[in-house]
Amino acid sequence: MYKKVTTSLIVVFIVGIVTLQWKLYSLHALTANLDTVLKGRNALLPVSEVVKDKTKKITYTIKKNDTISDILQSFNFSHDVIHTFIEQSKKVYPLSKIRKDRSLLLTVFDEELTELTYYIDKYNLLNLTKHENTITGNIQKIPYEINQKVFDGTIHTNLFDAAQDAGLNAEVIQDLVDLFQYDIDFKTSLRKNDRFTLLVETLNLKGKESGFGKILAAKFTNSGKDFVAYYFKDPNGHEDYYGPDGVTLRKQFLKSPVRYTRITSAFNVRRFHPILKIRRPHLGIDYGGPTGTPIKAIGNGIVTYVGWKGGSGKFIKIRHSDKYDSSYSHLSRYPAGLHVGSHVQQGQVIGYMGQTGLATGPHLHFAFYVYDQYVNFNSLSFRSAEPVKKEFLSLFIQQRDKLALQLAEVSKLARNETKLSH
Ligand SMILES: [Zn+2]
Repeated sequence: MYKKVTTSLIVVFIVGIVTLQWKLYSLHALTANLDTVLKGRNALLPVSEVVKDKTKKITYTIKKNDTISDILQSFNFSHDVIHTFIEQSKKVYPLSKIRKDRSLLLTVFDEELTELTYYIDKYNLLNLTKHENTITGNIQKIPYEINQKVFDGTIHTNLFDAAQDAGLNAEVIQDLVDLFQYDIDFKTSLRKNDRFTLLVETLNLKGKESGFGKILAAKFTNSGKDFVAYYFKDPNGHEDYYGPDGVTLRKQFLKSPVRYTRITSAFNVRRFHPILKIRRPHLGIDYGGPTGTPIKAIGNGIVTYVGWKGGSGKFIKIRHSDKYDSSYSHLSRYPAGLHVGSHVQQGQVIGYMGQTGLATGPHLHFAFYVYDQYVNFNSLSFRSAEPVKKEFLSLFIQQRDKLALQLAEVSKLARNETKLSH
């Protein structure tokens, strides 16, 4: 009997010890886990650096499907404080609009949230700060340190690969294409060994590279022909890109209404029609591409037709001036709100590629008219838009020469390297 009691006591004791150990172990595992989780969250920017005794800074990178309240609750802030922050944000920039991959910087004092910073886009941040019981919020410019860097590339396969090899991202390449879209047809005319040199702003935040700003100068050599562009902001605040003579690169019309597609059928007065099986002139240019490809107005103008038009399917026509019109056929849809009388800007999306009407596959049939007569758009050339104002021309030339020098230095360097490697 006595023995039995002792045994039971010993068993209870052992079980107790094991349980206690287990609890301690789980607690340890839990903290360790939490630590790893937090470290993972903060991997991008400074890890919860302890500023003062009770102040912590946490950087969190927003993940897919994150909501602001989920994120804040995961740090165990009080319900009231979370609610107030979210409510106050609505007056400046609603935190319900947070987006994946953007950063959130939280300042925590004594386990409670006191300041929240959200990086809205490349240039702006939202700041909400709590003083006693009131929260003030505003949108601020991100305090980047802006530097300049030259990038140099040669096309071996395609422009994107060349840009990546040079250390640039898709955003800068998009800007480069936009810059020369009036002079170079990037869809059809790029050649092997075409090359580019770009002077680009680099954005640094707390000593860390945080992407690219604008292109300041660019040189693109296409089939042995050089195209050069310089950024210039005049004292009135008007900014644009100009050629060496101060003439803007923008033209009255874009080189084409679509990007990155190919011409599947050129303007041809003696073409055999694929559906009608008769010889019928092709009084426009066909661009092939996937359904939904955005189509841009080639110039400023007023919409004179939007709707179904026989074999043209969904159709838009734009009057650019008394002399010029352009039209776009076989669209899949139009942007909301576009109607007869709408003013459109050059480059504005006015529809999406489709195959409505008489079409064998998705494509854009683009037509251009001079005094209401069909004309082969690709055989015309147009004047440029506003050049640098006369009174600012000497200032422009000064800046142009500075930028040209920076580009030339690197080109020389790159050429020497190429020579050495042969
Ligand atoms: Zn066509």
